[in-house]
Amino acid sequence: MPEVDRRASVPLGKERRGLGGSRALVRALSVPVRVWSALAALLTALVIAHAALAAEPVRAVRVWPSTDYSRVTIELASEPRHTVSMASNPDRLVVDFEGLDLDSLSAAVANKVRPDDPYIAQIRVGQFKPGVVRLVIDLKAESKPQAFLLKPIGDYGHRLVLDVYPAVPVDPLLALLEDRPSKPAGAGDAPRIEPWPLDTRRGRAAPDRDKPLAHRMVTVVVDAGHGGEDPGAKGRRGSREKQVTLSIAKRLKTLIDAEPNMRAVLTRDGDYFVPLQARVAKARRVRADLFVSIHADAYILPHARGASVFALSERGATSAAANWLAKRENEADLIGGVNLGAKDRYLAQTLLDLSQTATISDSLKLGRAVLDELGDVNALHKPHVEQAGFAVLKAPDIPSILVETAFISNPDEEKKLNDSAHQDRVARAIVAGIKRYFAKNPPSRGTLATDAPEERLPALVPVVHRN
Ligand SMILES: [Zn+2]
Repeated sequence: MPEVDRRASVPLGKERRGLGGSRALVRALSVPVRVWSALAALLTALVIAHAALAAEPVRAVRVWPSTDYSRVTIELASEPRHTVSMASNPDRLVVDFEGLDLDSLSAAVANKVRPDDPYIAQIRVGQFKPGVVRLVIDLKAESKPQAFLLKPIGDYGHRLVLDVYPAVPVDPLLALLEDRPSKPAGAGDAPRIEPWPLDTRRGRAAPDRDKPLAHRMVTVVVDAGHGGEDPGAKGRRGSREKQVTLSIAKRLKTLIDAEPNMRAVLTRDGDYFVPLQARVAKARRVRADLFVSIHADAYILPHARGASVFALSERGATSAAANWLAKRENEADLIGGVNLGAKDRYLAQTLLDLSQTATISDSLKLGRAVLDELGDVNALHKPHVEQAGFAVLKAPDIPSILVETAFISNPDEEKKLNDSAHQDRVARAIVAGIKRYFAKNPPSRGTLATDAPEERLPALVPVVHRN
């Protein structure tokens, strides 16, 4: 339970008495000069009484911890009237709300902060003064919080978003070089993956595990679509796209990391939102060789089914359906919540005026290889790679694809998407596609830290080949 401080609260009865003074107000207006101070006090009492009576309940409070940042979202039916400030000793974020119902806020924050939240120690609420409810976020370390409002969208009402970033931002490249176990609070254990089976299908050569595809470490960024405030598409049985995508992405990472000379970096490894541009920026920061975004499709009609693969288009979409899908996927930022006022040093790097033509050509090759493999484990929605303006595929120099693994809106496919054996098969098919792509399009010279002397990064540990 959060600690609720009611010391400053005013008994409701006292406030109600203020309302009875309206007749006194009329009389006071007819009396000249001397009563101004009394009149002012009366007006104050009226304002307070009005605020107390109109106190708005909180719809929901959600807390999303992660290693990148921890987010607190406070959702209301109308736009909150609030002020945000910082206090130190100990460090805390203070939000004063006008006309907010204390009891509903208190109930909504109860038990929301997990003990392993990296940045938030606890949330307390209390009646700060008549008509003003105070929410205090006690911070675990020196932080750079951001606060911003989001207008109603989808199922959400008005949201006040409080993002608690560490004073020194988490650098994905340093994290990769330190090879930290990428398990944030609550990310859960890596899924169990069975050994790679012998591939005898269609006379294809079995993947040679001892022969590296490249003479240097290649980095594949695996992007689990949606997350946190953005659930993505929802299945009829209640599954959420953000959970399915994370599960498949983690399996994909485990498989890629098991390959000689390949490693995977996840754009998110828990249930929290990463803005689309930040996903691209992370991939560029770690100098990724490939970017693979994992999604699950949805359509109004339940029989729509099958996997599909998309690449970026610079000039319009290849079909109306692809255009519609890109628009819906790009809405993630509106639903997930992006602070448009914030400037991120990594984001600035993505705003380059580079031609994407060569990259898109490679993305299509990668997409075809992955689609071909996916056809062995799932029905295909479209037999060819489609193109549209997906924001998450806009790294100008990294071949990038978006995989709609199946239709979560189709009850049969929803069941499969939740099945660990099927998730495994999908992940294996994507890895097989990536390997086929690299076999035909070997990565060029070194990337990553060896290319970035200006960053003064520690040297990479030499790659050990398994024999
Ligand atoms: Zn999606």
